[in-house]
Amino acid sequence: MSELSPTTAADLAEALREAAGNGQRISLGGAGTKHRMAGPAGGAATRISTTRLNRILQYEPKDLTISVEAGLPYGELTRTLAANQQMLPLDPPCAGGATIGGVIACGSGGARRRVYGAARDMVIGLSYATLEGQVVQSGGMVVKNVAGLDVQKTLIGSFGTLAAIVSLNFKLSPIPEGTRTFALSFPTAAQAVQARDKVLHGVLQPTSLDVVNPTAAEKVSLSGHCLLVRAGGSEKLLGRYGEELAGAEQISGAREDALWDAIAEFQATPRFVVRVGHPLMDLQAVLESSGGPCLARAGNGVTYLGFDDADAVRRWMAAQEAKAWSRIVEWAPEEEKAQIEQWPAPGPDLALMQRMKALFDPNQLLNRGRLYGRL
Ligand SMILES: Cc1cc2nc3c(=O)[nH]c(=O)nc-3n(C[C@H](O)[C@H](O)[C@H](O)COP(=O)(O)OP(=O)(O)OC[C@H]3O[C@@H](n4cnc5c(N)ncnc54)[C@H](O)[C@@H]3O)c2cc1C
Repeated sequence: MSELSPTTAADLAEALREAAGNGQRISLGGAGTKHRMAGPAGGAATRISTTRLNRILQYEPKDLTISVEAGLPYGELTRTLAANQQMLPLDPPCAGGATIGGVIACGSGGARRRVYGAARDMVIGLSYATLEGQVVQSGGMVVKNVAGLDVQKTLIGSFGTLAAIVSLNFKLSPIPEGTRTFALSFPTAAQAVQARDKVLHGVLQPTSLDVVNPTAAEKVSLSGHCLLVRAGGSEKLLGRYGEELAGAEQISGAREDALWDAIAEFQATPRFVVRVGHPLMDLQAVLESSGGPCLARAGNGVTYLGFDDADAVRRWMAAQEAKAWSRIVEWAPEEEKAQIEQWPAPGPDLALMQRMKALFDPNQLLNRGRLYGRL
């Protein structure tokens, strides 16, 4: 297999054009932290890595915008922004080694999306290289762009199956004056969900609202069915949270950072992780559907269930077939992906995705199978 690490957009586009011109299957990636995520990655003749496309192209702290190359390490981006009291609150798993391009291509997100939105809400523009060897710009450097065919939204979460993201422009957020996490622990899932409902119907607007079951709580040094409410703002605002959530354990400083880092990593830690999309009112049923560790984005209707083996995943998937929940095996050991159907019910959108794939990559050369084995 030939391995390429281009250092310019033009070289990346040329590498794609040449491999595609020779009819070669291409494996496109960043730092390769997410092999366990989504579909299998094998079988390519050429591997192209973006890790040497790693520059900050333009940073305008006053405008709260930044433009970076796709191979820039996520950690380096975070540190650069923090020096200006700014942030990109994506909270992805594998943050330690990931490239920003990989984070966006996988549509990775985390606990603060409730307030700050997901990757697609933070990307205001990007450029990408096609298999025809073209570098194309979509969107720009301003937060309000003229509407048109929003190609950038298609590339976010495409797992590199359509084109190679070369650079990304983001809108940034200021780091709040202070943050605090309020942890409420209950003996049952029903009580944790009731407490979640009270927050959702109340005056608080937390940045994160997660529930962990006892097995997952143990892994992040908590206990019970635990509702985690994270807030950001002035000391006065954080004090108001303390009054509304009387009796909660208050976690701040280094312990708070460590807790949320552990929660972000939890999304990727169990051998198999099933991501369930469900109505908010089904949270209790989802939490009680599995004996393994569970982490719920309780204000978004996304829950991550951890399993130890492929049989347990298959049994859970089959048992929930009649439910109106979206189910996807998001993380699995590379060598065991073939044993499970990762995306059993993609729905009618799949036909549209296949047409989109045919436009970008008619011979299915780029990252074949990475979109959960379907594209
Ligand atoms: C063209 C294309 C289509 C794709 N379609 C799918 C697909 O149908 N299903 C899939 O699993 N993967 C799909 N993928 C892969 C997908 O992009 C990535 O896995 C991505 O991380 C998940 O995006 P999503 O929109 O499905 O789910 P997410 O954006 O992760 O959202 C999951 C669920 O969260 C809830 N939610 C999201 N935002 C909010 C909010 N602000 N407030 C409240 N609730 C919220 C909704 O119930 C939503 O369905 C697709 C990829 C491409 C390229």
